[in-house]
Amino acid sequence: TTSVHRIHSGQVVLDLQSCLKELVENALDAGATSIDVRIKDYGTTSIEVVDNGSGIAESDWPYIGLKHHTSKLPELALLPSVDTFGFRGEALSALCALCESVTVVTSTKETEPMGAVIQLGRDGRVMDHTARVAKPRGTTVTLSGLFVPLPVRRKEFERNAKKELTKALSLLTAYALIPASSTPDTPGVRLKVDGITTKRANLLSNDGRGDLRTNVQAVWGSKALDGVTEVDIALDVTIDRMARREGDEAASQTVQVKGLLSSAAWGQGRNAADRQFFYVNGRPADLKSIQKVVNEVYKSFNTNQVPLAILDFIIPRESVDINVSPDKRTIMLHSESNLLSALRIGLESYFAPSRS
Ligand code: ADP
Ligand code: MG
Repeated sequence: TTSVHRIHSGQVVLDLQSCLKELVENALDAGATSIDVRIKDYGTTSIEVVDNGSGIAESDWPYIGLKHHTSKLPELALLPSVDTFGFRGEALSALCALCESVTVVTSTKETEPMGAVIQLGRDGRVMDHTARVAKPRGTTVTLSGLFVPLPVRRKEFERNAKKELTKALSLLTAYALIPASSTPDTPGVRLKVDGITTKRANLLSNDGRGDLRTNVQAVWGSKALDGVTEVDIALDVTIDRMARREGDEAASQTVQVKGLLSSAAWGQGRNAADRQFFYVNGRPADLKSIQKVVNEVYKSFNTNQVPLAILDFIIPRESVDINVSPDKRTIMLHSESNLLSALRIGLESYFAPSRS
């Protein structure tokens, strides 16, 4: 069964990017406002995520590495409104199966300034938790030897480590850009990524207390804001009859689109394909169909250019299913095609005035 578990684990944690995503989201779920990521040798030696969140209570230690154990889902009835990024209890268990070693150092309000060192085994069980160390409140998860238990995958990782790190940094950028005030759920987070024994020590850094413009500037420099304007569009989205609830008379709902977008008059020949990030209610999400509409509309005004686009879609919670895929990046939106056509119309009139 161990090898079956490893195969399944490989689907939750496919690469360095998903590994870091799970660790960072766990930190955010724990209410962290500061996250330090340390990546040694492009992640091939070790990966460490240090947060200042709630820490893990001693009664939870036996369960953190076990599959389908989560502290985030007290009752299944809560499913439609789950606020946390994770609730499947799959990430740490997968990482235990996929790494040479997983160490968790954690301290709670009750135990700070002391913490416990928890050593998890391949099977996710606690092997040792005897050591007590000085530790401010929060949790540090250290993984070493990612993919070592899967020799073929490990070789591939070593071969493509630089590429995988670039991909991972792009995803972490989505978290670093989250503005301090976008929604009450997302207070903003200080995110710092350091490469150890890679060329650039400071790979990404943002103090996370700023608004979106401040964050863009912190991450890419002030030039990144040239020709970029604020977007705030209310879309009137027709609700599919199928998605309407009994007794619910509303035929449409408002989806607010907020963020930054290159203006139609943006300089010739520019391409910001690597500066497109989409969010649903303040959470980073893969929104391929939305991205496609944004780029299509933009190109119709500004030939062959790809704009900077950092857009948060504020959607009524009951119209979003966040956790349909194991990696939770794929989001199901009810009445999606109606949303897409409303977005197309909204963006067309947004760009139109600047044409004249
Ligand atoms: P999930 O996030 O789906 O609950 P995970 O496997 O990612 O599952 O984590 C398992 C459990 O370990 C979490 O439910 C949480 O109780 C605990 N945990 C993991 N990382 C942290 C962290 N950084 N801070 C506090 N608790 C954590
Ligand atoms: Mg998780």
